[in-house]
Amino acid sequence: MSRQKIGIVGSGLIGRAWAMLFAAAGYWVQMYDILDTQLTTALQELEKELHRLEEKGSLRGKIRAAEQLALIDVTTKLDELVKDALHIQECVPEVLQLKQTLYSQLDELLDGITVVASSTSTFMPSLYSEGLSRKEQMLVAHPLNPPYFIPLVEIVPAPWTSKEAVEQTKSLMLNIGQRPVTLNREIEGFATNRIQYAILNEVWRLVASGILTVADVDRVLSQGLGLRYALLGSLETAHLNAPGGVADYFHRFGGEISAVSATYGATPNTREDAVTLAEIAKQCEELVPIEGLGERRAVRDEFLIQLAKLKKQF
Ligand code: NAD
Repeated sequence: MSRQKIGIVGSGLIGRAWAMLFAAAGYWVQMYDILDTQLTTALQELEKELHRLEEKGSLRGKIRAAEQLALIDVTTKLDELVKDALHIQECVPEVLQLKQTLYSQLDELLDGITVVASSTSTFMPSLYSEGLSRKEQMLVAHPLNPPYFIPLVEIVPAPWTSKEAVEQTKSLMLNIGQRPVTLNREIEGFATNRIQYAILNEVWRLVASGILTVADVDRVLSQGLGLRYALLGSLETAHLNAPGGVADYFHRFGGEISAVSATYGATPNTREDAVTLAEIAKQCEELVPIEGLGERRAVRDEFLIQLAKLKKQF
């Protein structure tokens, strides 16, 4: 049987990560970019990264780095990319107009089987697929960075996305070893960012009001809540934290949850509050200077690799 083809549009950070995930599972991957030079760089980076992971014993999939690399090729022609693709993963910059133009072009080229999934972190799929003739084949499949080490993918349909497109994407994500969740309908921020922003708003308030430093507020997650959340979600955590399970938990603590929640105050204006932003930036940069971000990202990735191994045991 011939290999199934995956098209990747945009060969930057996220496009390259998807290429690695699909090639690790044995798919034939073709990457498209408007910049020829970007594709050359992407292939060079992929070669380095796949061999580095192989040497460390952290390569995904059952085939060797060289074989995975041989499954990835590039094109600067969009029609060539679309031809015979089972799935196209769109990874162009987060600019709505750019995505809208691209989806109109794809709309002209698609045939019946191809699903187009956007990696977008912010745009609901209806914003760029409305009015297109192949709109039922378009949805969001949002990864978390770095996708190679974090398995969650949020699948978000537009109101007109077909059930078949959702199901095909879900099975594909499972096939490549990712862990999809499917939203029943689109919503601003999907699920991950809605939850992440709720946390960011509250840590912002705690620092802005001088109650905790940046180091301490982050410790609440990294040395506390986050350790449980690496295994359990917040509802299962609650379920385990009362003798009679989650219903008992909310009967016992629901009043307290409402009372504390009533004290949160307004949503911080994180873009306009220059004073708090300067303070948070100063403290963050004392912890990790800007020139040390690359090194710290490498520590994060190594930690996630080890955590993935640990999670397999549970
Ligand atoms: P990036 O800037 O690293 O890469 C974008 C690539 O798209 C570049 O190679 C660029 O040349 C190419 N490109 C630009 N216009 C194009 C076009 N019209 N056709 C084809 N290629 C084009 O961006 P990224 O960080 O990889 O982000 C890509 C998408 O993934 C965005 O929608 C972003 O929101 C989403 N995402 C990013 C992250 C993250 O942490 N970076 C996490 C999750 C999702």
